[in-house]
Amino acid sequence: MRSLDLKSVSNAVCELLTECAFCAGSDLVLKIHDALNKEQSPLGQTVLKQILENQKVAKCEAIPLCQDTGQVVVFLEIGSEVAFTGDIEAAINRGVNRAYTEGYLRKSVVADPLRRKNTGDNTPAIIHTKIFPGHDVKITVVPKGGGAENMSAVKMLTPAEGETGIIQFVLDTVKAAGGKACPPLIVGIGIGGNLEKAPLLAKEALLRDLADHSPLPHISNLEEKLLTKINETGIGPMGYGGRVTALAVKINTYPCHIASLPVAVNLQCHVTRHKSKVL
Ligand code: SF4
Repeated sequence: MRSLDLKSVSNAVCELLTECAFCAGSDLVLKIHDALNKEQSPLGQTVLKQILENQKVAKCEAIPLCQDTGQVVVFLEIGSEVAFTGDIEAAINRGVNRAYTEGYLRKSVVADPLRRKNTGDNTPAIIHTKIFPGHDVKITVVPKGGGAENMSAVKMLTPAEGETGIIQFVLDTVKAAGGKACPPLIVGIGIGGNLEKAPLLAKEALLRDLADHSPLPHISNLEEKLLTKINETGIGPMGYGGRVTALAVKINTYPCHIASLPVAVNLQCHVTRHKSKVL
C-alpha cells in the first residue's frame, strides 16, 4: 500500500482552485478565438473580444476571471492501493478554505438553503468519490458559477420520446436560459442512468477537452447536431444575438432502465474552470 499524507490533498486543492480562478484553460482560449472567427454579429464580436481581453488581464494581474468564483465541486478518484489516516473530505475543505480566504476569492456558499447565512470560507465543497485500481489519487476541482448552474435542468423522458425528445429538451433548456447563463456556453449532457446519475454524467461531460468528440459515433453525431441547432437559436454571446451561443456540446451516457430515458443538461458559461492533479 502507498501511504498518502492528507496535507498534500489540501495543498493540491488550494493550488488548483487558485489557478482556476485566474487562468482560463488553453482549450477554452482557442475555442473563443475560433468563435470570434465564426461570429458575424458586431455586438457578438465585441463580447468575444472582451472575453479574450478579460482572460489576458485575469492571468497577468491575478484577478479572478469572474466575480462569481463559484461553488466548488470536487471529483476525487482514489486508487485502491492508497492508504491514508484521517478525514479526506475535511482535508479537501481545508484546501478550499485556504484558496478562498488567502486568495480573497468571493465566498459564495450559504450554510442553510433557507436561512442563507454565508459559511464565510466557501466550504463545504460538493465531493464525488470513486475508487479505482491503482496507487494514485486524482483530484479534479470545478468551481461552478451560479448563473449557468441555475439554468440547468433534468427531465425523465420516456424511451418513446427518443432522440427527438432529447433535442427538444436541450433546446428548450438553452432557450429558457437565454443570456442568463452567460453564453457562449459549453453544454454538458447526461443521457441514461437514473434521476441522480444523469446530472452527474452531465457535469462529468463538462470536464472533457473542448476539442474532443464522443467515441460513440451516434453520440458524436448528436453532439454535432445539437451544437448546430443551439447556434441557430441566435441567442449569441452574452445573449446579445449572434451565431455563437455554444462553443461545444458534450454528451456522456450510461445504461438505464427499460422504462426510462433520463436526460440532464448542465450549462457551463464561458468562464469554464476545472483543473486536475494526480498525487
Ligand atoms: S454564469 Fe459564469 S460568467 Fe456568469 S456570473 Fe456566473 S461564473 Fe460568471
